[in-house]
Amino acid sequence: MAEECIFCKIAHGEMPADTVYQDERVTAFRDISPQAKLHVLVITNKHFDSLNEASADDSDLLAHAMKICAMVARDEGIDQSGYRVLTNVGEQGGQSVHHLHFHVLGGETLTTRLGS
Ligand code: AMP
Repeated sequence: MAEECIFCKIAHGEMPADTVYQDERVTAFRDISPQAKLHVLVITNKHFDSLNEASADDSDLLAHAMKICAMVARDEGIDQSGYRVLTNVGEQGGQSVHHLHFHVLGGETLTTRLGS
């Protein structure tokens, strides 16, 4: 757990969130500032600053996170209408929270870029 990381605190139950799913490896919760009608974040419970820090040893964890993104979409009823999964990396990628997370966006027709 990284000190002062808000997503670590959410994953460890030290900060409240609108959690829709949690297991020992990932946590999914609603984004506090939604960019689409449905906007859920899927985070790894383990801290990585971004996708850059994940290695081949983390392949199973990343695959699990992707499966949970799809599960969230299904549970929220947007799997058939369509949705987007993305992760921002670094300054030019628009990353604002430096803990690996995947945005699950949908519930409406999406514009080409998140936040544009
Ligand atoms: P990014 O800009 O890709 O790093 O995404 C970070 C996301 O985290 C943004 O969409 C924020 O709205 C969201 N966010 C920040 N703090 C919280 C929080 N406490 N609970 C839920 N979502 C948050």
